[in-house]
Amino acid sequence: MAIRADAASSAVARPHDTDPEMGAAALKTDPAKARQRPLPEPPPLTGGHGPARVIAMCNQKGGVGKTTSTINLGAALVEYGRKVLLIDLDPQGALSVGLGVPAQQLERTVYNALMERNTTLADVRVPTDIPGLDLVPSNIDLSAAEVQLVSEVAREQTLLRALSSVRNDYDYILIDCQPSLGLLTVNALTAAQGVIIPLECEFFSLRGVALLVDTIDKVKERLNQTLEISGILATMYDSRTVHCREVFSRVVEAFGDTVFQTVITRTVRFPETTVAGQPITTWAPTSSGASAYRDLAKEVLVL
Ligand code: ADP
Ligand code: MG
Repeated sequence: MAIRADAASSAVARPHDTDPEMGAAALKTDPAKARQRPLPEPPPLTGGHGPARVIAMCNQKGGVGKTTSTINLGAALVEYGRKVLLIDLDPQGALSVGLGVPAQQLERTVYNALMERNTTLADVRVPTDIPGLDLVPSNIDLSAAEVQLVSEVAREQTLLRALSSVRNDYDYILIDCQPSLGLLTVNALTAAQGVIIPLECEFFSLRGVALLVDTIDKVKERLNQTLEISGILATMYDSRTVHCREVFSRVVEAFGDTVFQTVITRTVRFPETTVAGQPITTWAPTSSGASAYRDLAKEVLVL
């Protein structure tokens, strides 16, 4: 789906010229619920695993649910029989920690696979506790890559080249981006076919989306013609607040069907899972959070 940056700009501009009373009056109902339709059961996998579809989880704002969504979408896709590789492309290493992998103590991480000619992603990946879900961990070493990559030949394609060693082993490769639009994120966008934009349902989140969509457009134009926005995922959704409902409505107005019908509700179960080092699908398998990420997986599987 082609999205232009001006769609995002209009979503940002609208609330300024809105009558403050209008939101409360017009949005008595839950706009997310109103969009929900039954989701088809995912088709079974046919013909063996791979080659993987690569999806970047991207938003330059921090704390919007990128890492949480990477872990839990990955775990949900595995429940539907897919093999999934998660790549931590954030030097903070939260994806690794969230899966119980002590990345700070690891000798080799994604950094080595990106910077060393004879280290591959296959060399640095590790299995997680969930069969079918593997991880390429990251730690603070990766912060040097942003600077070191600058002097590389074809620096934006470094991750794309590295993916060749693992692409055929998986059905999906999800890349957890860091909160910036720097060279590592451009590498993720250059390597991906799809981008999922997790978006916190809060007014200030909208501002960054215009810039992100603009960056995605540029990467598509100059580096990666196959890149598409897979979808915008509303996270930390709270249907009880008018503000959240209004922001969600604006996003749907601007982006239409590109917004996933699945929304991720705000709940303390998610911070708990980080401490447990597990996806919510195994930590609290019957929770609404787990079922939301299963619904997201169903949407992703038919894209
Ligand atoms: P990002 O990767 O974009 O920085 P995270 O996924 O790390 O964001 O989420 C930031 C914080 O918010 C974490 O503490 C996480 O546990 C919490 N969190 C994520 N999703 C939700 C949610 N739906 N409800 C409540 N807290 C959440
Ligand atoms: Mg993160």
